[in-house]
Amino acid sequence: MGRVRKALVVGGGIGGLSAAIALRRAGIDVDLVEIHTKWTVYHVGIVVQGNFIRAMVALGIADECVAAGFPYDGVEFRDLQGNLLADIHGIKLAGPNYPSDLGLTRPALHEVLSRNAIKVGTNVRLGVTFNEIRQFDDRVEVSFTDGTTGTYDVVIGADGVNSKVRQTIFGEEFKPKYTGQGVWRYNVPRPPELNRAVMYSGLPTGKCGFIPLTQDTGYVFLVQAEPEDLRIPEDQLAPEMRKRLASCTGVMAQLRDQIVDSHLVVYRPLRALFMPPPWYRGRVILIGDAAHAVTPHMGQGAAQATEDAVVLGELLARDEPIGDLFEAFMRRRYERCKFVFDASIQMGEWEQHPTPDADPTGLTAKLMPTLAAPI
Ligand SMILES: Cc1cc2nc3c(=O)[nH]c(=O)nc-3n(C[C@H](O)[C@H](O)[C@H](O)COP(=O)(O)OP(=O)(O)OC[C@H]3O[C@@H](n4cnc5c(N)ncnc54)[C@H](O)[C@@H]3O)c2cc1C
Repeated sequence: MGRVRKALVVGGGIGGLSAAIALRRAGIDVDLVEIHTKWTVYHVGIVVQGNFIRAMVALGIADECVAAGFPYDGVEFRDLQGNLLADIHGIKLAGPNYPSDLGLTRPALHEVLSRNAIKVGTNVRLGVTFNEIRQFDDRVEVSFTDGTTGTYDVVIGADGVNSKVRQTIFGEEFKPKYTGQGVWRYNVPRPPELNRAVMYSGLPTGKCGFIPLTQDTGYVFLVQAEPEDLRIPEDQLAPEMRKRLASCTGVMAQLRDQIVDSHLVVYRPLRALFMPPPWYRGRVILIGDAAHAVTPHMGQGAAQATEDAVVLGELLARDEPIGDLFEAFMRRRYERCKFVFDASIQMGEWEQHPTPDADPTGLTAKLMPTLAAPI
């Protein structure tokens, strides 16, 4: 048993739930507070790759994750006429029994993570957050919005891109910045021939594609240059998304024409943030989007959050001073997260401001071999 007996995880998203599972597996008592009263994850999907699945193997829940999604292999790049430009196969980083890539609905992933976090004994409280975090040499004292207090060895801020833990511990100056793009998504029935991720380039100011999520469904996505203050009446989202996909042909045109219910269109402006090191102060550490919120261009946000969780769980099991363990965390996580962040931002830049040396397929092909290195 290490020196950490009890931890607080703030945030019950992908990183926080993964951290709870990792710490419980290390024998640490875990309280988790999630500000929402319900597990409110929106209905569209998420794409994850071999390093995410490898992290799920480490948490003992890879089989459930794979069963909840649609396993596939790599990504095809096509032009708007459907001509194949590049075909990048995935790498089975979790071993031959697991796929290289997986599409999942966000609710399905959340169901697996939350069920397992509770199963391994995480004390979860929904609709609760912290009021105050007070650090001492030997402990952290936290007061909560439900009137309770708690004493912890460490606090893990896994409260996402707009992290209140980050703001409280590191100050107001670290804020996510708008990247100039937004993502439009819409779930559709999966055409049988679309059994891998496919991306289409050639739209005037963006790219689009399809990700399979289950045997029956997938989602259409559109990454598009948009003004930061884009305001579209809610009932106009479907026609606006279709308008932006007007030049699609073939199967993408058929999928575009199924985008009819504005209430099912999910639009998100892309904001990014990369915290300077270290991502901890005293006994409080940030993981996931709270420390490194990437754009989805490389499909790596969830993987990096879960890798953070796995590494933290492994380190906090050790009988060493917490400062040393957090330093070890930074050594194992910083460069890797920075590589993903820089690659994701570069992709978005190339999409918005194409240059002769832009090489999105080359950068995509480099991603997985780089991330194959052990964490
Ligand atoms: C449009 C879009 C598409 C994306 N697509 C992909 C993709 O395909 N693949 C991929 O890997 N990544 C994708 N990402 C990124 C991915 O969603 C994130 O990197 C990932 O969710 C990070 O996990 P997290 O736990 O750090 O944060 P989150 O998942 O955001 O979880 C944070 C949690 O903390 C809770 N919370 C917030 N504030 C508080 C508080 N004060 N107290 C308590 N709880 C709080 C929130 O309610 C939430 O449950 C995408 C992101 C965007 C914006």
